[in-house]
Amino acid sequence: MEHLKLEIHGIVQGVGFRPFLHRLVQEHGLSGTVCNSSSGVVLELEGESAALNAFLQALPQRAPKLAVIESVKPHWGLPLEGYTGFRILPSLVERERNTLISPDVCLCEDCKRELLDPKDRRYRYPFINCTNCGPRFTIIRDVPYDRPTTSMGRFPMCPDCEREYHDIENRRYHAQPDCCPVCGPHLWFQDAQGRRTDGDEAALERARAMLKRGKIVAVKGLGGVHLACGIDDPAAVQRLRQRKQRDEKPFAIMCRDLDCVRKLCDVSDDEARILESWQRPIVLLKKKAPGLWHLSENGFVGVMLPYTPLHVLLFADDIDALVMTSANLSDTPIVYKNGEALERLSGIADGFLLHDREIQTRCDDSLCWVLDGKEYFARRSRGYAPYPVRLARVQSNLLACGAEQKAGFCLSKGDYAFPSQHIGDLKNFETLQNYEQQIAHFERLFDIHPAAIACDLHPDYLSTAYAKERSEREGLKLVQVQHHHAHLASCMADNGLQEPVIGLIWDGTGLGTDGTVWGGECLVGDYAGFERFGSIRPMALCGGDLATKELDRVAYVLRREAGVEQEENPLFERMLKSALNCPDSSGMGRLFDGVACILGIKTLASYEGQGAVLLEAAAAEDEAGCYPIDFYGAPLRFDWRPIIRALCEDKADTAHKAAKFMNSLARMACEQAEAASRKTGVTDVVLSGGSFQNLYLMRRLPAVLRARGLTVYHHRRVSCNDEGIALGQMMILNEAVKSE
Ligand code: ZN
Ligand code: ZN
Ligand code: FE
Repeated sequence: MEHLKLEIHGIVQGVGFRPFLHRLVQEHGLSGTVCNSSSGVVLELEGESAALNAFLQALPQRAPKLAVIESVKPHWGLPLEGYTGFRILPSLVERERNTLISPDVCLCEDCKRELLDPKDRRYRYPFINCTNCGPRFTIIRDVPYDRPTTSMGRFPMCPDCEREYHDIENRRYHAQPDCCPVCGPHLWFQDAQGRRTDGDEAALERARAMLKRGKIVAVKGLGGVHLACGIDDPAAVQRLRQRKQRDEKPFAIMCRDLDCVRKLCDVSDDEARILESWQRPIVLLKKKAPGLWHLSENGFVGVMLPYTPLHVLLFADDIDALVMTSANLSDTPIVYKNGEALERLSGIADGFLLHDREIQTRCDDSLCWVLDGKEYFARRSRGYAPYPVRLARVQSNLLACGAEQKAGFCLSKGDYAFPSQHIGDLKNFETLQNYEQQIAHFERLFDIHPAAIACDLHPDYLSTAYAKERSEREGLKLVQVQHHHAHLASCMADNGLQEPVIGLIWDGTGLGTDGTVWGGECLVGDYAGFERFGSIRPMALCGGDLATKELDRVAYVLRREAGVEQEENPLFERMLKSALNCPDSSGMGRLFDGVACILGIKTLASYEGQGAVLLEAAAAEDEAGCYPIDFYGAPLRFDWRPIIRALCEDKADTAHKAAKFMNSLARMACEQAEAASRKTGVTDVVLSGGSFQNLYLMRRLPAVLRARGLTVYHHRRVSCNDEGIALGQMMILNEAVKSE
């Protein structure tokens, strides 16, 4: 007989881990106890040493689907206690918090069956869940993860639920958010006049009736409120656009099932798998031509499948697809509280489908493409946050504050980086407030106390101001990281790289070390530093920031520089000649914008990067041609003038010209990277920056680089856009603190 103590770390709470342990302990004829600690679970076992060893072997192999075992620490040879049976002890609240918290999990198949089974006591109950599914991150106030520290604390269990909760053979054993129609939360519906309909069925029916009549309904979900409306009625969608002041940005949709998705979009096997995964992200799918232009002006439409029981009931058999867009106004954070929804969405929603299970933490839907069979994130949020990214060799207690657009922070502990969920553009007070609250929430949940802070070089970003203020107040070291260096480090960390790389870092804008705007960069470096090996020919942004909206300002400068004849614009000429309010930019995003305008695709952009998105959508897939390219100087600058000249003379149609332009960029990237490789001997290339949200490029550029003997890495765990930048800042900060 031996006594073995096991400390198990990882995502092991709220995922059916203790019932699993119970079964495994019984199977192996062992006895002992288990309890949740803030750092995982602690297991005390007694039995024959052969049985204990067999148990240890089986543990990782048979763990529940949602559990992630990061480490198992065995302590052998403890004095025998004489345990009988297997007991579950109350949680220990330890000082050291280390538990990983599960993201929210979509409705599981077992619960779905019960939801639709008239004989089940949770038949058509919109809040059905179990140990394998349901809300997690969004209802947690504090750790350890137990019912009183969640939004479910105010719903005492009825005797039936209590029995299931304590029955180790039951699927709901210790499922903290578990509930039923007798004891749990309920729906209600409220119309624009404030008339309220209580009761789950009645509320659902009113919401469904309204949706079928082309009305807009605010629906409270897991991490916030959605605005929903039918997709078949363009007038309804247009009304939603007007009321939400979202002129052209695409809307995501939710389809009843995969068959409905296939009617609207092409879906590969990999895409189907990720659509149906328990994370249920919005997947950007190629639209079946023609159609859905009222939802998305480009070639893709964002689609997700129902992920809560409420969604399943909302669709029933007679609704195939709904627009499901985050309820927010002019770039403020998603609305997530009942009162806030009624107040802020009045005038937008015709009705409100709400409930009394509080959302503790905002978490927007995740958004990704599927690339090489994996998620390629545009936004990593619900279903993924707050699960960390595992890293090697990173110090604890580092805080990286991110950039401005697509803001996000990152904290470190142990071998983990904890990237935040989606925060949004840090350009208004509400978003800043949410950003600060989420940093505080993460620090508390994961017991992280920042000892050093990283932020962007740009002095005007609110994230930089936050970092500076906090580092001064708390006396912490502050490291300001060049934007594109952070992108490079982020993609390195994402792929677990340590040695120097060539970074093709393309985005719209980022402050360079020389005070100018960078964004079409070829860097060589690692976490410790970088050299700017190449860039693109700078262009004057006529009118500064205005040029990111009025794309003809960029087009004018491109043509002018390239010596293409055009009608003279006296205003632009005066500005350019006096160099007044015409900062230089080497941003790749601007080059895309200018070309989109020259090709007549877009003149007035309503959101950042729109020119590039539409150019991608316009491109002909079958075009392999290229325009002449040229370089000059050091850093090795890509000269876009020959391209602009060739493009303006080309008699081909827009689709082929757009494709040729992007093919030329791929060729340019390739030659630049090859030259950098020849000079430095480095052969690993990372691709980062928002311009690589372009799937046309992502499906071609890596192959071209590989053909030249280079090894190519792209983002896999965090976004390539500025949301992923905090991870890179953190790695650079880690290096700076280490070398002191
Ligand atoms: Zn379930
Ligand atoms: Zn109950
Ligand atoms: Fe960027």
